[in-house]
Amino acid sequence: MTTRRGVTGQLEIACNVTRQVPLIADLVNMATSQRRGGVPTPCPRDADLVAAFAAAAGDRAGTDLRDDPAAGAQLAELAGELRAALLAEHAADQAARINAMIRRYRAQPYLVEDVGQPFHLHFHGQGGTRVQAMGGEFATALALIVDGYGTGRFGQCAADRCDAIYIDLTRNGSRRYCGAACTARAKTAAYRGRRRG
Ligand SMILES: [Zn+2]
Repeated sequence: MTTRRGVTGQLEIACNVTRQVPLIADLVNMATSQRRGGVPTPCPRDADLVAAFAAAAGDRAGTDLRDDPAAGAQLAELAGELRAALLAEHAADQAARINAMIRRYRAQPYLVEDVGQPFHLHFHGQGGTRVQAMGGEFATALALIVDGYGTGRFGQCAADRCDAIYIDLTRNGSRRYCGAACTARAKTAAYRGRRRG
């Protein structure tokens, strides 16, 4: 496994995996998490989902997504598959779901040399659309995390009234919340609980 350019405090893992992880979490949480940060959050659908995710995905991918009328339905489906894989109860089920996505999106490893960067490995899916290309990248990113660090790196936010997912790339595997806001909420709740106790 590639172990260069690790971010301080994070696992040493292929840089392309590190880049995919925030996008995976964004997509799954936008499209499937009904409550985030203690607040009911209607999931956007179709063009609204495309617009929300395109903003997170960056210029080139965002433009491709907005130009594809099928992207909304495909994104929702991909998000559902990712969530089921991330939150699978048993390791064998999780591996089977990730493998199914790798097959379905036909992830193809190949080396890319971006401007200003040495060659690095991508895993685009071969289905011909931007969503299918991302499906291959996302599925392989999850597979590489399981390969390097086991199946305990994915979970649902432990804060009250939040069903967002997280992907834990911390060195010590300590992550339990979807983001800084829920970490703060949980700390405040624990503090109040101790004071009452
Ligand atoms: Zn949360």
